[in-house]
Amino acid sequence: MTSIPNHTHDPRAVSWVASANDGTTDFPIQNLPFGVFRQAGAARPPTVGVAIGDHILDVAACSRAALFEGAAADAAAACRSSRLNELMALGPAAWSALRHAIFDLLRADHADADRHSEVVGPLLVPQAQAELFVPADVGDYTDFYASVFHATNVGRMMRPDNPLLPNYKYVPIGYHGRSSSILVSGAPIRRPWGQTRPEGVEVPLFGPSKRLDYELEVGAYVGVGNDLGSPVTLDDSDAHLFGLCLLNDWSARDMQAWEYQPLGPFLAKSFATTVSPWVVTMEALAPFRVAPFTRPDGDPAPLPYLDSAAHKAAGGIDVQLEVAVSSQRMRDEGMAAVRLSHSNLSQMYWTFGQMAAHHASNGCNLRPGDLLGSGTVSGPETDARGCLLELTWRGAEPVTLPTGERRAFLEDGDEVTLRGWCERDGAARIGFGECRGVVLPGST
Ligand code: CA
Repeated sequence: MTSIPNHTHDPRAVSWVASANDGTTDFPIQNLPFGVFRQAGAARPPTVGVAIGDHILDVAACSRAALFEGAAADAAAACRSSRLNELMALGPAAWSALRHAIFDLLRADHADADRHSEVVGPLLVPQAQAELFVPADVGDYTDFYASVFHATNVGRMMRPDNPLLPNYKYVPIGYHGRSSSILVSGAPIRRPWGQTRPEGVEVPLFGPSKRLDYELEVGAYVGVGNDLGSPVTLDDSDAHLFGLCLLNDWSARDMQAWEYQPLGPFLAKSFATTVSPWVVTMEALAPFRVAPFTRPDGDPAPLPYLDSAAHKAAGGIDVQLEVAVSSQRMRDEGMAAVRLSHSNLSQMYWTFGQMAAHHASNGCNLRPGDLLGSGTVSGPETDARGCLLELTWRGAEPVTLPTGERRAFLEDGDEVTLRGWCERDGAARIGFGECRGVVLPGST
C-alpha cells in the first residue's frame, strides 16, 4: 500500500508558482497530477505535463533540458510522448523519483529556487492556453459496480423484493466497457439512438434515448501490468495502479432496461465515457488513505484473496465527489450550475485494490493505461445518489432546477460537471479538476 506520506505531502510546502499557493487551487505543490496537453495553436504533438496552480509544467521539455538526474531522468524521458503509457509502465519507484524531482524544481524554499524559476519558468504553460487530451491510450476499460447503495437502489427498482443479488457481497461486479469512445472533459456528448421498449408497447422502438443519465464515478489507471496467467495479490494491487481520475459513465437508461439481460450493458453505455484530464497519482493520495467501508454486521467477510491486514488498515481512499448540472437556459441567464449530489469514494463496498486484484485473479493480464471505473459512487443519503436514475427514482420524482425547469433525465443542452477533492486536517487539500460534458441532440 502506498499509504505513508513523505515530505512531498508537507502542508507547509509552497511553490514559486504563486497560483499554486492560494489555498483554493486543485493543484498545489502537494498534488502534481499528470496529464497530456498541447499549447493551443501549437503545431507540435501533445506532450506530458504536470498541473501546478493555474499552469502546466512541460515535463518533456524539462527532460530535453536535462533538468533531472538518475531514476527521475529516466522517468522524465518516458514523458517525451503523447500519452502516459510509457511512464505508467515504469512502476512506483520511477513515478516517485519523478514526483520528488518535480517537487524540488517547483518548491519555493529550495536552495536553487531562483535558478529553478529562471530555467523552469519558460517551460510553464497557462492552463487557459492549453488543450488537454485523454491522458493514456486505454487498451481495455472495465467498469465496476462497487457502491452497495447504488446497487441496492437500482436493484430495488428492478426487483423490489430482492434488490441485491446474492453474489454482490462476494464478487466485485463489473463489465467490459468500450475504450474507443472515451472522451476528455469538455467534449460534447451526442444523445444516442437505440432500441427501447416503453411500458405497454409490444414492438420496441428505434430512436433517440429519452432517459439519458450521467454516472458519477472515479477511474483508476493501471500502471504496471501483470503477465497473462499471473494474478496480482491484494497487497500488491495498489502498486499496479498509477492514479485516479473522475469518470462520467453516460448511460441511456431506456436502452439499458431493454438490452441488459442476460449479458449486461452494451449500447446503453458504449456511446461515450468522459474522463477528467488530470491523473492524481497514488502517491499524492497517500495522506487520504483510510480504512475501507465497514461492512454491516451480518455481511460476509471478503474471501481471503480479497482481504488482508494492510487492506483493512488503509485500503480505502477518502475522495469527496460532487455532480453539478446546468441547463442551457440557466447558462443563458447567467446562473451557476446547481449541485445535485455529494458523495465519497470511501463509502464504496469494494476498493480499487480489491477491484484490481479480482480482475487479475483469473490470470487476466492488465496492461499500462487500462482503465477501471468504480461504478456510480452513491452514499446512503438521498443527496448522495450519484445518478439521476436514483435521484429521481427512475423519473418518478424529478428534480427542479433554479429556473423552475424539471429534470427526470438529461435534456439537450444540459451540462454535467463532476468534481472531486481530498481534504483533512494536517494535509494540503488537493483536487481532481473537473470532468464536464454538454448533451447535444442525437443525429440519425
Ligand atoms: Ca457505471
